[in-house]
Amino acid sequence: MWRVAALVAVVSGGLHVFDAGDVTPAAREYLASRYTPDVEHGYCITKWHKATDSTGHAMPVVDQVVAADNERENTELGVQFDCGTMPTLHTHPPRFPAPSGSDIAKGIVRSGLPFIVIQSGRDTFNFWVVDDRL
Ligand SMILES: [Zn+2]
Repeated sequence: MWRVAALVAVVSGGLHVFDAGDVTPAAREYLASRYTPDVEHGYCITKWHKATDSTGHAMPVVDQVVAADNERENTELGVQFDCGTMPTLHTHPPRFPAPSGSDIAKGIVRSGLPFIVIQSGRDTFNFWVVDDRL
């Protein structure tokens, strides 16, 4: 936990981050039907758009995902995949709803992507968004 907090603080030093975002009903249904708590799954976000939340803030909305080709065997706490320039979504078991430090480092810092999404239940999504990249 400490490492995650430290990394977020470092990243936040130059970037405004927040956790608002949404998933369209069709994408939710697809993801809910495939969710398993015991093995992580990775998805490439092939289509998304910007929307405005109730406070007037821009946020991402995920329209469409495709299951990613996995680079190695998935486990309960690990999934390895590459979506190139597309943002990613991957699942976690319900007890870990937040992105890990390496999730943020890989998906946001290194890839330069605008956001990552963690699915930690059939219909539970957590966003990690870099404001300036939306
Ligand atoms: Zn993760």
